[in-house]
Amino acid sequence: MREYGFELALCDVLETPDRVVSRQLGAHVHGRRIADTVVLEPGPDFESRAAITSETIPDRAIAADVGVGRARDVRAVFDGMRPERAQSLVDHCVEIGFFERERRGGRSYVRQTARYPEVWFDRLLGIENKPDLDRPGDLYSQLRRDVALGLFDAVVLATTTYVTGAHLNRIPDAVGVWRFDPDAGEREVVREPTSLDAGAGSAEIVAEHPGRTEIELVSVAEKRQARRRLAERTYGKGWRPAELPGCANCAPDADGRSATLPYCDWHEHVVEPVAECGPDCGGYEAAESPEVDPAAERDASSAWVREPGGFKRRQAGLDRFG
Ligand code: SF4
Repeated sequence: MREYGFELALCDVLETPDRVVSRQLGAHVHGRRIADTVVLEPGPDFESRAAITSETIPDRAIAADVGVGRARDVRAVFDGMRPERAQSLVDHCVEIGFFERERRGGRSYVRQTARYPEVWFDRLLGIENKPDLDRPGDLYSQLRRDVALGLFDAVVLATTTYVTGAHLNRIPDAVGVWRFDPDAGEREVVREPTSLDAGAGSAEIVAEHPGRTEIELVSVAEKRQARRRLAERTYGKGWRPAELPGCANCAPDADGRSATLPYCDWHEHVVEPVAECGPDCGGYEAAESPEVDPAAERDASSAWVREPGGFKRRQAGLDRFG
């Protein structure tokens, strides 16, 4: 089983109207770790967050000293950042509806369109997908890093493999284990995860050498910021492929799932378009890409809101008269 198809099938099953699911996101503070799948469960202020923008809000903008009250001079707020970089960040935040801008005397002033909510997500679940446990690669090391860092509230390993006691002995105790059949979409819980202390400081494993492990301490504030960054990326990104391959053998409706996936009739499984499709593939037959609207599907199937309220309209009016 290829990991890409496994991952998409799992995302499809995990997505519900009261969650947000995403894939391939940075889940580290000092080190480098990409989480396969992230499930975000909304907190009490979720609607306020969703009302601001459907996109990821950059952490530099959230952390900046910009509120909803008096507009702040961009040069003062992003002091220390190169002016072009600050300008591009502000432009992006205006574009997505997080900032509104006023121009006075040739200078730019910004404020938030709405107060950024404190408690908009509740739990973050991290899932490592390893269909074939007999080819684990650096799986066990990755899971040890996830548990040590504790950025997620819980971590799960998902696999198609029959999980033996020998496998379980190598998986950190706190990590839950699911056996997942991507064709049937059925998930068996082999072991529940133990909750991690995501609100506490921790030690992040940044490198492992024979007989020696390098760690970096992570403060409570760094962890909080990294969780917010991860939650924002989860909210903005999602998991669906943006487009399907331009090939006559791409048959997104052929595998009977609710989500539109790049199912290939020639290979008879879900393919990864970037890696597998094109003239080098033996089954390639040039054709129009099947039309998909991943945002519409995501909006209908998850807690993510494609077209939030009217903050951007207010912005349009301000720019006109600014
Ligand atoms: S290019 Fe190959 S893998 Fe991609 S849809 Fe066509 S036959 Fe399938």
